[in-house]
Amino acid sequence: MFKGTKLYSIATNTCPRCQEGPFFKTANPYDLKQFDKINPVCSYCGESFQREPGFYIGAMYISYALSVALVVTAFVGFVIIFGLDIEYVLAGLILAIIVLLPILFRTARIIWLNIFVKYDPEKAKLARHQKLASEPS
Ligand SMILES: [Zn+2]
Repeated sequence: MFKGTKLYSIATNTCPRCQEGPFFKTANPYDLKQFDKINPVCSYCGESFQREPGFYIGAMYISYALSVALVVTAFVGFVIIFGLDIEYVLAGLILAIIVLLPILFRTARIIWLNIFVKYDPEKAKLARHQKLASEPS
């Protein structure tokens, strides 16, 4: 995966602008007390991750699309191609959706932010210098 692409930011859960600072407070999606906590700003470039109240409501559409993609892929794969019984596939899918919930939730949010923030290492570097200069030493 190449740095500078949106896929890099999404796969590594890093700030879309600098791809250095972590987006979530914890790197572990199964840390159930903290998996949904987003850093307020990027620790590297200062990009705001809490852009406005309700910003991440739109991430629900992404979450829905990811879930539908998972269900359709599993259905086509297991029922149509391998001919498995649909009851077993459904039970497996319900279990898979529950187990994957934290990952789907986080992926939807980082994709949503990536839609609005462009990778811009020059601007990120400039913002970092201003941030460091304004901090008391
Ligand atoms: Zn950043």
